[in-house]
Amino acid sequence: MKLRPLVVGNFKMHMTPAETVAFVERLLPRLGTAAESRDIALAPPFTSLHVTAAALAGTGIALAAQNAHWEEEGPFTGEVSAPMLEEIGCRYVIVGHSERRAHFGDTDRRVNQKLRAVLLAGMTPVVCVGEQEADRLAGRTSEVVDAQLKLALANTRLAAGQTVVVAYEPVWAIGTGRNATPAEAAEVHTLIRNELRMTFGEENGAGMRVLYGGSVSRENAGELLSRAEIDGALVGSASLDPDSFAAICEAA
Ligand code: PEP
Repeated sequence: MKLRPLVVGNFKMHMTPAETVAFVERLLPRLGTAAESRDIALAPPFTSLHVTAAALAGTGIALAAQNAHWEEEGPFTGEVSAPMLEEIGCRYVIVGHSERRAHFGDTDRRVNQKLRAVLLAGMTPVVCVGEQEADRLAGRTSEVVDAQLKLALANTRLAAGQTVVVAYEPVWAIGTGRNATPAEAAEVHTLIRNELRMTFGEENGAGMRVLYGGSVSRENAGELLSRAEIDGALVGSASLDPDSFAAICEAA
């Protein structure tokens, strides 16, 4: 059975608060009733979360953050904690994005700490895993993704009704215009699904969404998202264009 799809727009470090609100105003009419049959979330920069929460009120579209610190509070200048994000209305938090792993020292251990902090604060982590191009060429994709996922999910405790979302994002496909083929993505999604079943039990694991991310566009979304193994998309560049993002949501 196909799960209810989830499409998350990751704006990365784009758009001021005013620009984000203007974007939401352009996006909403294009989405029409899409949010009734799919879950849709927007992840703007921290500075835009508050105004975006207000702009999305009553629309059924969820708010997501791009990162969170692993501690609840403390002397961590420049950081934002999971309870702070929960209080302003975030439902999802992206953890372990490859850009954070590459540029901000997010190790597997840190990703695990952040994922657990997000769960503890009552939100849903969207945990990103994915191989480098060299891993794929060396035939190590499954090994790398499996190891990342196991470490990310270690010692995870879910409260009743809580869930985890996994985004398979091959690093070589992010922001490059080169997406994994639906068959390549589906193979890794099956591996992730098996790991989720082993970690969280058959029923819970079967109900968790596994998204694909990496150069998803309005052109390739239909083919990718029609695969039974792919439960939605984490969208970077194409989420910055309301027409493209709405078309991707429609395809889901
Ligand atoms: C991402 O950053 O999560 C992403 C998938 O980016 P893009 O869609 O631009 O490849």
